[in-house]
Amino acid sequence: MEKKQIDWANLGFGYIQTDKRYVSNYKDGAWDEGTLTDDATITLNECAGVLQYAQTIFEGLKAYSTEDGRVVAFRPDLNAARMAASAQRLEMPVFPEERFVDAVKQTVSANRAWVPPYGSGATLYLRPYMFGMNSVIGVKPATEYQFRLFTTPVGPYFKGGAKPLTIRVSDFDRAAPHGTGHIKAGLNYAMSLHAIVTAHAEGYDENMYLDAATRTKVEETGGANFLFITKDGKVVTPKSDSILPSITRRSLMYVAKEYLGLEAEEREVTLEEVKDFAECGLCGTAAVISPVGKIVNHGEEICLPSGMEKMGPITQKLYDTLTGIQMGHIPAPEGWIMEI
Ligand SMILES: *Cc1c(COP(=O)(O)O)cnc(C)c1O
Repeated sequence: MEKKQIDWANLGFGYIQTDKRYVSNYKDGAWDEGTLTDDATITLNECAGVLQYAQTIFEGLKAYSTEDGRVVAFRPDLNAARMAASAQRLEMPVFPEERFVDAVKQTVSANRAWVPPYGSGATLYLRPYMFGMNSVIGVKPATEYQFRLFTTPVGPYFKGGAKPLTIRVSDFDRAAPHGTGHIKAGLNYAMSLHAIVTAHAEGYDENMYLDAATRTKVEETGGANFLFITKDGKVVTPKSDSILPSITRRSLMYVAKEYLGLEAEEREVTLEEVKDFAECGLCGTAAVISPVGKIVNHGEEICLPSGMEKMGPITQKLYDTLTGIQMGHIPAPEGWIMEI
């Protein structure tokens, strides 16, 4: 298929409307069969549940071209399962997991011309989401929902190499104990906007959120999980029920153990011990890993030994191995790569 004429290497992370999106509606207790459509506009009642009480959840994953010219998606089954968990927590009907994966296939196939070529560094970002459609004024779950999946080509996350980030310990909390931090819901992002806007205004790239109950333990940033590397080369990621279970982070922990022979541990991480780590990174679909060079806790600067110029050596190995698996130069574990 003829690719679109786009300057792939200079794309940013923004919305570009592509040809087709998948839509399925839930009404009278059942999902319809679903369809691809050209229509990028949604018409909603003024009292729609999503507009009043924020009943909306989403996912994010990527499709890309491998070196040998295939178009693939990375572990869409895990996004399907996570979306099911998010739906249950917000009293929304689950969009069947096998249908989610099928929607990924259909939508990417229909937008094949928008899948950036191998080597461009760009990818096709997929955004599945679901929201309450019918009017809801008394507080209760909607009874009608829409599942949608659109795609948008996005550029290489790091143009000209990954520069380590400077982050601050936030005075705001991201997630309450027993709250909704572990699900991918729009509401977690709405309340993070003030924290990120003020962080940017003060010259920080991101917020490090602590556990809301004691403010002593590291949780995550607004949209990425932490990975730390100890001075003796162990990979550590914070364990908490209020962290969003990043698929990138889970994949990197597997890569650390099974591909790199590193010890990899999910456990509580205190803010106090952060100064003892050798490297720090943020993991998520968009960047895979963004290195962190400096963490500022109310004036106290914690400078990671890996510095402000480049990724730490173990972070780099993790990054190279996972992106190698995704791009097809390193054999993938069973089931990680779905060909479209
Ligand atoms: C989506 C998300 C992540 C990253 O998850 P991936 O599955 O790796 O993309 C991390 N934290 C939060 C809060 C998120 O919403």
